[in-house]
Amino acid sequence: MGAFQGAGRNPRQNQSKRRILVAGGAGFLGSHLCERLLNDGQEVICIDNFSTGRLENLRHLLRFDAFSFVRHDIVEPIDLPIDEIYNLACPASPPHYQADPIHTTKTSVLGSLNLLELAARSNARIFQASTSEVYGDPHVHPQPESYWGNVNPFGPRSCYDEGKRCAEALFHDFHQQYGVQTKIARIFNTYGPHMRADDGRVVSNFIVQALKGDDITIYGDGAQTRSFCYVDDLIEGFVRLMRAPASLDAPVNLGNPGEFTVAELAEKVIALTGSSSKIVYLPLPVDDPRQRRPDISVAKRELNWEPSIQLAYGLKSTIAYFERLLARSAGAFAEVA
Ligand code: NAD
Ligand code: UDP
Repeated sequence: MGAFQGAGRNPRQNQSKRRILVAGGAGFLGSHLCERLLNDGQEVICIDNFSTGRLENLRHLLRFDAFSFVRHDIVEPIDLPIDEIYNLACPASPPHYQADPIHTTKTSVLGSLNLLELAARSNARIFQASTSEVYGDPHVHPQPESYWGNVNPFGPRSCYDEGKRCAEALFHDFHQQYGVQTKIARIFNTYGPHMRADDGRVVSNFIVQALKGDDITIYGDGAQTRSFCYVDDLIEGFVRLMRAPASLDAPVNLGNPGEFTVAELAEKVIALTGSSSKIVYLPLPVDDPRQRRPDISVAKRELNWEPSIQLAYGLKSTIAYFERLLARSAGAFAEVA
């Protein structure tokens, strides 16, 4: 087994307080995960290159003695004494992952490889934040884990979709070849506080546009669908999957099966914000999937998990977050001006 012959025993494994590495912990989902793990009494080391993540997302965690963070790009190898690894590092919004597509691929492929090697050396369980994008523009609806997908390997989304697919293959092979305990979540569109105002994904775009009174930008005719999961539901799914028996190494869909058209989402955001914004229609991006909804039977059966937060509630909470964020940045602007 070559490089990892020493793996097999981790002296910290039986301790109840585990040292957990969260790669991408300064991002939207990562910062919620760090908080959840700290509240569960774990020690958390966040590593992040701060490309899309923000220090602001971590500020409220600095009060925990058990929290630390390191600026590090997972494309480079890392060595730390660790019991568990969550790999969330990767830009997730199309404009962000397309801004430097080669680095996006390196992040999913080399980054996953580096963290899998660390997991193998440390005998640590490792979790991969995969994505519904592995299904591409699906011909099967809703999407079960058994569907192999319809992904364009040669287009603007390929760096993300194919990078994540290759990462899943690496997780499979480290499990088979080295016995590493692996967990893979295929995450469907998730939203909530700690998204960036300039994130570029649909929920944050619509809310920020509505709050500012700017035009709401629907790409295409708005008939494409997505299923939107609130962040708290998703994080509960992450933790349950990580704690599931070692035999559950195959990918598991995590998402909210409630399916909405993008036009319906725009109407909901306008109604909940009371905005006077008008809707404008812009070209549909290349390879934009037409429909997406998770089949979550596996998560229900194996994790006893399903989302409980309705879209209206989740949107209200996200709107409140963006109101505070925009008020703070307006205040900061007034101070400088
Ligand atoms: P995000 O962009 O807010 O967070 C990604 C984090 O990873 C950021 O903090 C960023 O700075 C960091 N990062 C990026 N490249 C890195 C690198 N090379 N080295 C170290 N850190 C790096 O996105 P998010 O929505 O929080 O997504 C987190 C993970 O979940 C991603 O892997 C994403 O692909 C996956 N995911 C998210 C969704 C969703 O709807 N939010 C859906 C599917 C999959
Ligand atoms: N979208 C839109 N207006 C926006 C941003 C996105 O109509 O301002 C559309 C986008 O074309 C896609 C859907 O909303 O059909 C979800 O886009 P997002 O980038 O949030 O996620 P993904 O395409 O990766 O699922």
